[in-house]
Parts: sequence; C-alpha cells; structure tokens
Amino acid sequence: MLDWNKIDTVLLDMDGTLLDLHFDTYFWLTHVPEKFAEKNSLTPDEAYREILKRVRAHEGTLNFYCLDFWSDNLQLDIAGLKNDVSHKIAYRPQVTNFLEQVRQHNKRSVIVTNAHRDSLDLKLEKTGLGECVDAIFCSHDFRRPKEDPDFWLNLQQHEPFKERSTLLIDDSLPVLRSARDFGIAHLLTITQPDSQQAPRETEEFLSVDDFADILPGKKRD
Ligand SMILES: [Mg+2]
Repeated sequence: MLDWNKIDTVLLDMDGTLLDLHFDTYFWLTHVPEKFAEKNSLTPDEAYREILKRVRAHEGTLNFYCLDFWSDNLQLDIAGLKNDVSHKIAYRPQVTNFLEQVRQHNKRSVIVTNAHRDSLDLKLEKTGLGECVDAIFCSHDFRRPKEDPDFWLNLQQHEPFKERSTLLIDDSLPVLRSARDFGIAHLLTITQPDSQQAPRETEEFLSVDDFADILPGKKRD
C-alpha cells in the first residue's frame, strides 16, 4: 500500500495517531466536565454541554489546542487536571515497533503536533516517545495550527523535507487536506484513533489501523 522506496521522511501526528486518543477524549468529555460541574454547581450533563459548546466554537484554531486558553476560559487548572488522569496515556498498537523499523531503514521520523507544550511534555514523560523519533515540532511554535497550509511552509524552514518523498500520518482529515494542498505526496489516516470508539469510514485518504501493516521492511502480499 505504501512504496517505501519513494519515502525518505515520515511526519507523524501524536494524539490519535501514535498515542491512543482515548486519553484526550476521556479528559475533555468526562474529567473536565466533572471538575467544571463541581466548580460551577452544575450537573455533569449541563457542564458537558456547556464545554462542548465552547470547544466547538474554537475547533481548528490554535486556541482549541492551547491549555492556557482553556485554563482561562474555563477557570480550571487544565495542565494540572491532565496529571490526574495521566495513567490513561498509552501507545496505539505496534507504534514503537514501527518507529524502530523506520529508523532502521534510515527514514527520518518527525512528530508534528498541534498539542500544547505542557501536554506534549506530559506525554513524552509518560511514554518515552521522544527517544523514538528524530525531531518534534509543535504548531504553537509557528503560531498556526496544522490545518493552515502555511504551517507546512514554516515547518519546512526548520525541518527541510521534500514534498514528493514525505509521508504524513495523521488522524485528522482537515490536517491531511491542508498537507495535500501544500503538496505532501503520501498521506495516511488512522482507522480507529480512539480505542474505545468505533472505527471510522475514511474514503478520502488511505487508512491504516495497525502499524504492523505498513512496516518499511514488510514484504508486500
Ligand atoms: Mg491527532
């Protein structure tokens, strides 16, 4: 499904791609509403609906991914609350094996994430993911999310990559579209970003569920 001979750089999303999105889903849709309900004397359901309304209003923007923004908006210590449930941070299947194989085949591996630095640091600390890749870039450093095609131009100035020989794996379809608009040739999405939710139908992009299926050294059937 992938022609690894044509790929020399692998750009990798973190949440929902390398790591199970369940942590983030649980954090935002269960843990934060519970704390918001306690603080504002609401029922958990009222808190959930209020937070969903606020979150949806900022989808696709840098604020959406900014812990400082949400700490201020919700008047909660969001970074601190993440620590409470950090035991839920986990790899998706076969990720470390995949990253090891990518390295063994002399491909450059780079994490590109919309995650906030505080969230990134917590996840690196819990997983050791930082040791498995060559570089990590946060969209906050460029002041634009990956959904903005200019993000890739900014990235290229710090991490020179050739569009024709780069693979991006990302569970976000808007991000994949933005990368496609920029000219990145090889694009893959994730079938089941959150292990606790149903797999998705994604016809627009090729999709992978288990990284074992796309190992660089794997013989094609
Ligand atoms: Mg993601």
